Amino acid sequence: MSDEKSMQALLGDEAVAVGALHAGLSAAYGYPGTPSTEILEYLLEKQRERGAAKPGNFLARWCSNEKTALEAALGVSFAGRRSIVTMKHVGLNVAGDPLMNGALLGIKGGLVLAVADDPGMHSSQGEQDSRYYAAFAMIPCLEPRTQQEAYDMTREAFEISERFHVPVMLRLVTRLSHARSQVRLQKEREANPLSRITDKTEWMLLPAFARRNYACLIEKQREIAAWAQAHPANKLESSTETAGRSFPETGKKDLVIITSGLGGNYYEENFADLTASRGGSPSRLHIGAYPLPVESIRKLCEGAETALVIEEGQPFIEERLRGILPQSIAIAGKLGDGKGGPGLAPRTGELDPDNVRRALGLLPRPNILSVIKTESLPSSLPNRPPQLCQGCPHGDSYETIKKAMAGFDPSLSAVTSDIGCYSLGAMPPYEVPESIVCMGASIGMAKGAADSGLKYVTAVIGDSTFIHSGVTALIDAAAANAAMTVAILDNSIVAMTGCQDTMVPSDKLEFLIRGLGVDPDHLVVLETKKQLVEENAKLLRKEIEYSGLSVVIFRRECLEAARKRIKAKKA
Ligand code: SF4
Repeated sequence: MSDEKSMQALLGDEAVAVGALHAGLSAAYGYPGTPSTEILEYLLEKQRERGAAKPGNFLARWCSNEKTALEAALGVSFAGRRSIVTMKHVGLNVAGDPLMNGALLGIKGGLVLAVADDPGMHSSQGEQDSRYYAAFAMIPCLEPRTQQEAYDMTREAFEISERFHVPVMLRLVTRLSHARSQVRLQKEREANPLSRITDKTEWMLLPAFARRNYACLIEKQREIAAWAQAHPANKLESSTETAGRSFPETGKKDLVIITSGLGGNYYEENFADLTASRGGSPSRLHIGAYPLPVESIRKLCEGAETALVIEEGQPFIEERLRGILPQSIAIAGKLGDGKGGPGLAPRTGELDPDNVRRALGLLPRPNILSVIKTESLPSSLPNRPPQLCQGCPHGDSYETIKKAMAGFDPSLSAVTSDIGCYSLGAMPPYEVPESIVCMGASIGMAKGAADSGLKYVTAVIGDSTFIHSGVTALIDAAAANAAMTVAILDNSIVAMTGCQDTMVPSDKLEFLIRGLGVDPDHLVVLETKKQLVEENAKLLRKEIEYSGLSVVIFRRECLEAARKRIKAKKA
């Protein structure tokens, strides 16, 4: 590879995609979800460029949900080839079953799960830390903190997966996934040849085999721990050479630092001031490969008074330190200050250089706004809550639902909703949904509410969320003929994450719903538009009043999808 070609400016997500390609990728699967979407988008684009039909070329596909994506990747591994699965952190809950059981298999072709966490919930319903899942499944986890590491660690993850015969997790976070930096690339490796498994007992989790496989996974833990202990991303730095720079040694062990992920970068931004304020640098361990490097942690903390942990996400390392270090060493971080007081780092939201600075006990940096003329700046920026696009079909659907529900006894009514652009119907001016929980929950919750005696219950769900997680809940509702209405807002696309294709196009949706057991007499398709709000509301109201299950599809294409479709046609 020429020098010019070997450097590329890549988003963190793109660095993962290129790393996977250069590791000899055969297949990539995923479900869109911010901040992970760009990994598969990049691979789909490369697939189009390379031509998927040619033998040996990799394949990239969106799937119905994260569970089906991971299961497809397991099939690729079964055939001896390498695959990557992409998802956001909450998607990993959906893929939890194949993840936990996949760890018990004899993984053959390397299998990498790229999971992007969203601390601060920029575009998520919850803040959860995927490192807990890796520990739960007892699989290795790599946590890059630069785009270069994202590329290098992705390549390595495939090697590790094949070496230990387990899936390997790559844990990303929003600020890494969506920031761009120069990455030095390596030569692309050949894809694995097709070579299916030979010992089927390694892949068959019947109790007798599963017990043996579980014992085997436990046995592997020693080797995996030794790998993590020796990993160069787990870097122990003495007090004289922290962050690659030489500083005077204080000889003091009052404070030692443990960083991970982007926490390491924010620490380094404050490092010079910290060193100046203390007259020397504290010793520090950065962790980028899990399970935790226990020996390095003990070595770092030998004779220390306080160990301060700076990690992005939940206090994963901090919680585990208590089981590693003696009681005499105070542990500080998000949970406490080590002296019984509140946490030094924020328990919710993202880390940044300023809150890490506070956790280190440094004075705030001078505010840039205080040294420039601020008279011309507004005292605060206007609040801009997220809104549906102007003219979005969901707006007309919500007007319709609002009108149809009006007049029902509020103590006997409920509107549950789901995850997608249409979640914004909870905001003014619509304010229709009363619950948004997780993918598909609208239908299950509506059934429970109807079972409990509420009479006028409507579940609002988008077409792609319905395919992702609503189908099985609708089977339950149909089997019980629950007294509820499901309003499927069908805009023919996965809109919120950038208009990916849905697995079941609009013209096939009704067949699917009928096949699930919904009475065709109570399956109604409405064109959603402003001029039809009154008329549609009457039809919807009739279905809500029906004492069994009804499904009403509100249909109109997403504006953004239409714009992209027209642009693609012109090109
Ligand atoms: S992207 Fe599409 S579905 Fe989402 S708000 Fe805009 S028009 Fe509506």
